[in-house]
Amino acid sequence: MADCDFCNSRAVALLAYSNKKNFCKKHFIRFFEKRVKKTIREFQLLHGAKRLGIALSGGKDSLATLYLLAPLCKQMRVPLTAILIDEGIRGYRAHTIKTAKKECKKLGVPLAVRSFKKETGFSMDEVRKKSGGSACSFCGVFRRWILNKTARELKLDKLATGHNLDDIVQTLLMNLARNEPARLARFGIGGGVIEDDAFVDRIRPLARTPEKEAALYMLLKGVSIERPECPYAHDDVMRDLARSFANDCEVKMPGTKFKLFNSFLSLQKELNEKFKQKKLSMQKCSNCGEPSSQEKCKKCEMVEKLRETKKKTI
Ligand code: SF4
Ligand SMILES: [Zn+2]
Ligand SMILES: [Zn+2]
Repeated sequence: MADCDFCNSRAVALLAYSNKKNFCKKHFIRFFEKRVKKTIREFQLLHGAKRLGIALSGGKDSLATLYLLAPLCKQMRVPLTAILIDEGIRGYRAHTIKTAKKECKKLGVPLAVRSFKKETGFSMDEVRKKSGGSACSFCGVFRRWILNKTARELKLDKLATGHNLDDIVQTLLMNLARNEPARLARFGIGGGVIEDDAFVDRIRPLARTPEKEAALYMLLKGVSIERPECPYAHDDVMRDLARSFANDCEVKMPGTKFKLFNSFLSLQKELNEKFKQKKLSMQKCSNCGEPSSQEKCKKCEMVEKLRETKKKTI
């Protein structure tokens, strides 16, 4: 690899979309952290935060978020707590729980662990058996439900997630393909259009960070990010297609993911107005009491369906 464009050291990163393309370790880390801090300022992600949470999966994105937020929170004297969800996927989660515990201990961040089995009655392996191939939709709903409930129990007022640029671009493409504008409006970088005290605002400090760069950042920080792929990762066909499309575009036209992200922001601006007028307010789920746009929340609906078939398949 060539020399760094800022100094004479050996470059470790080539960023095709950037004017200055070659970065040594020191300049890449500086560039990476500066961009995240800029994102935090741009979307006022920590504005008014008194107790911050971070959804930790033990993967590169949430670990990078943890590494950036831990010193920042210390500086701002905002207590930071990590929440890790064990989905109950054999051979997948155990390794990352170990990594998450180790890194939280290193950074002095308390970690709360919750599980699908305990909170919903079903592990993801059990859900997969019953649903017969749509694991990710259950997983996403259950995870969001547990995160919100736990964050509220821990009295956190904002919850950071590791969603990176690639995740957000994929979400945009999937939403366009499914024509679900209300869901797009709800997916905010610093909280969506939902105004409900029971709903803990999500913030996404890696919104402008490409996935590959989060992995490189963690490697350069000396943190092991190796983990097995979730065995159900390819259940979400639409996400696979969106990922391939965005990656192909990026290779042929570097910078496309950033442009798609900016389109997402413009679209959201319009949608926020539209759905604010329609008052996208939440009610309490009649079963669990968590915020819901329907009489019963999606998690309770899903659990009910799984219970109905429990005796047949397990
Ligand atoms: S790939 Fe799907 S099932 Fe596996 S952890 Fe992610 S969302 Fe859950
Ligand atoms: Zn350099
Ligand atoms: Zn419910």
